[in-house]
Amino acid sequence: MIFTEEHEMIRQTVAKFVDRELNPHIDQWEEEGSFPAHEVFKKAGDLGLLGLTKPERWGGGELDYSYGVVMAEELGRCRAGGPGMAIGVQTDMCTPALARFGSDPLRDEFLAPSIAGDVVGCIGVSETGAGSDVSSVETFARKDGDDYVIRGGKMWITNGTQADWMCALVNTSDEGGPHRNKTLVIIPMKEKGVVIERKLDTLGMRSSDTAQIFFEDVRVPQRHRIGEEGEGFRLQMLQFQEERLWSAAVQLKRLEDGIQETIDYTRQRKAFGRSILDNQVVHFRLAEMQTEIEALRALVYRATELYIGGKDVTRLASMAKLKAGRLAREVADGCLQYFGGMGFMWETPISRLYRDVRLCSIGGGADEVMLSIICKLEGTLPRGG
Ligand SMILES: Cc1cc2nc3c(=O)[nH]c(=O)nc-3n(C[C@H](O)[C@H](O)[C@H](O)COP(=O)(O)OP(=O)(O)OC[C@H]3O[C@@H](n4cnc5c(N)ncnc54)[C@H](O)[C@@H]3O)c2cc1C
Repeated sequence: MIFTEEHEMIRQTVAKFVDRELNPHIDQWEEEGSFPAHEVFKKAGDLGLLGLTKPERWGGGELDYSYGVVMAEELGRCRAGGPGMAIGVQTDMCTPALARFGSDPLRDEFLAPSIAGDVVGCIGVSETGAGSDVSSVETFARKDGDDYVIRGGKMWITNGTQADWMCALVNTSDEGGPHRNKTLVIIPMKEKGVVIERKLDTLGMRSSDTAQIFFEDVRVPQRHRIGEEGEGFRLQMLQFQEERLWSAAVQLKRLEDGIQETIDYTRQRKAFGRSILDNQVVHFRLAEMQTEIEALRALVYRATELYIGGKDVTRLASMAKLKAGRLAREVADGCLQYFGGMGFMWETPISRLYRDVRLCSIGGGADEVMLSIICKLEGTLPRGG
C-alpha cells in the first residue's frame, strides 16, 4: 500500500488526538470502568475522524479504506484498548451498513450526527443465546402499522450504556430460513421499552462500557430499516469485513508499543550480572515477534488494497482477524513473561495489554468462527458443515 502525505497528516492527527485527549485520562477511566464517550467523540468528530471513509454528503471525508486502517493503527497507541474500541464501533462496526445501504433520511438522522460526534452508536448482534452463531439471534421485530415492535435483547454491547442508537440485527419474519429472515434496524436507545439491564464487569477493556440490553416492545418506524427486509444477515456479514480489518489493524501499534516497553524494561533490569535483554533468547524472541507483527501488517494492507478495489475480502479479513488475535495473545504473554513479577501486577501497562488483547480472539467472531469462514471459502469444510 502506498501512503501519501494525506495519510501522514491523518496519522499525525490521530496520534495527537490519542496523546492529548485519551492517554492523559486513561488510568482514571480504567479505574472508573468507563470513559465519557459523548465528550470524546465530539472532539474526534470536530477533527473529522469519525467519518474518514464515509460519504461527504453526511459530513464524511469520502476517503478510501486505507485511511481507516491508518486511523485504526494510530488508535492502537492508546494506553488502553477501551476508548479506541469504542471509537472503532462508531466508525467501523455500527455505521458501515448504514453508510452504504441506509436511506437518505436515515443517513441524515443517524449517520450525519455520528460522523459529527454528536451521538454515540453501538452494534447489536450478539445475544445471550447467540454469539458465534449469528443466524440464531432471537430478537424479533413484529410489524404493526408503519412500525416495528421489537422484543428481545442484546448481550455484550460495547458503548451500550452511553449509546444514542443501535444498529440491531433482528428477525423480521418466521419464514425464509435464518439467513433470509433478518433485517438491520436502527433503534434509538431513548425509546420507551429499551432497558439497559446492566453494565458488565469485564476482564479487560475496562474503560469501555459493555452492557446487556433488553427490548420490551420497543416501537420504531419501519423506515429505520437499513436496506431491504430479509437482507440483514448478508449486510451484517459485509459490515463484519470492516470490523475485522479494523480489529486486526488496531493491534499493530499496540503490540509494537508492548514490545518496546519490554525492551526498555529488560534493558535496565539486571539478573545474573547483566541486563535481561542481553540474553540472546530474550532479544531473539522479541525480534521474532516484531517480524510476526510486520507479517500481520502486510496481510492487513493486502486485504485493504483489495477491499479498496471493490473485492469481497471476507477470506483475508477473517485471516487477518484470526492472526491478529493469536499473535496478540502470544506477544502480550511473551512480553509479560519478561517483566517477571512486575508483569503480574494489575497496574502495569503490560498486564493491561495482556487483559485487553484477549478480546481479539473472541469479539467480532471467535477464532474458530474465523477458521470456519476460511474453511468454507477454501472449500475444506466437511459436507453439511
Ligand atoms: C468486551 C466485549 C465486547 C463485545 N462487544 C460486542 C458488541 O458491541 N456487539 C455485539 O454484537 N457483540 C459484542 N460482543 C460479543 C462477541 O462478539 C461474542 O462474545 C462473540 O461473537 C462470541 O460469542 P459467544 O460469546 O456467544 O461465544 P459462544 O458462541 O458461546 O462460543 C464460545 C466459544 O466456543 C468456541 N466455538 C464457537 N463456535 C465454534 C465452532 N463452530 N467450532 C469450534 N469452536 C467454536 C469459540 O472458542 C468461542 O469463543 C462483545 C464481547 C465482549 C466480551
